Amino acid sequence: RAKEMGRSRFKVFNQKMHDQAMRQLMLETDIRHSLSAGNFELYYQPILALSTGKPVALEALIRWNHPDMGLVLPSEFISIAEETGLILPLGEWVMREACSQVAAWRKEFNLSIPVSINLSARQFLKPSLVHDVRNILEETGTPPSLVTFEITESVLMKNTSAATEMLNLFKKMGITISMDDFGTGYSSFTYLTSFPIDILKIDQRFIARLEHEKHCRSIVKTLIGLAQNLGLLVVAEGVATPEQAQILASFDCPYAQGFLYSRPLPAQQIETLIGQPLLARAE
Ligand code: C2E
Ligand code: MG
Ligand code: MG
Ligand code: MG
Repeated sequence: RAKEMGRSRFKVFNQKMHDQAMRQLMLETDIRHSLSAGNFELYYQPILALSTGKPVALEALIRWNHPDMGLVLPSEFISIAEETGLILPLGEWVMREACSQVAAWRKEFNLSIPVSINLSARQFLKPSLVHDVRNILEETGTPPSLVTFEITESVLMKNTSAATEMLNLFKKMGITISMDDFGTGYSSFTYLTSFPIDILKIDQRFIARLEHEKHCRSIVKTLIGLAQNLGLLVVAEGVATPEQAQILASFDCPYAQGFLYSRPLPAQQIETLIGQPLLARAE
């Protein structure tokens, strides 16, 4: 009896693993195919100055226009792309696409808007990353001053010395470095002083709790002050309500990003948005 149960449980377990492996394999094949078929797209979400409500930069966020599944969000495929190594060609595509867009906006609209690009830890394990980036900037004619790389703490945790070296080279080229999702995971304050970071993005999980949790307000207020004392710019991520924006403004948070102002949008829709304030100024 027990043996039987054990065996059937084993079967279920096997079936689950099998399904997972199949799904992973399918997605892997799909990603490969979609890369060459042009089914990936970059959306852009404005980052704005809280004092004026005007966009000052954009974050590039990848979207997958899957032939059967429709629009697929990064939470569905970035980790698989990381595990399979497909993040390398995908990341290169993102880099080239974002830089081409920056260059096109400059040329067609005489508009110089900085764009933030998310980089995975895995990309920093590729020795040719710096070389690849230099080539893409050159090919697309993109000024490095209009490019920001968003990295998470995992980049620094996984390959500290090589990653630091690369970040230093990027800085030397004139690229801005932003620490994404700060305050979660293995957040360490030493990251803020021992790595060449220019911008700190406060994780949206803190912002979501601002209104109702006093302790959370204290943490965010302290983080903003600390970052500014260290000479870093601060962006609050995931600002979704006017109340959150108001609390952040009272903490002198300089920059914000979130659904309150704009969802991530296709490049074409960004063009009609730029130059307008996204939020009426509170008097
Ligand atoms: P992230 O870099 O922290 O990007 C911010 C995420 O928060 C985006 O999700 C954005 O749509 C979402 N967001 C912005 N404002 C709000 C808000 O007010 N409320 C809520 N609930 N969400 C908000 P998205 O586009 O689904 O991307 C998720 C994550 O996937 C990104 O987090 C980033 O880690 C990763 N990712 C996206 N694009 C790329 C890429 O091109 N390369 C790599 N390596 N990772 C990417
Ligand atoms: Mg980001
Ligand atoms: Mg983030
Ligand atoms: Mg994130």
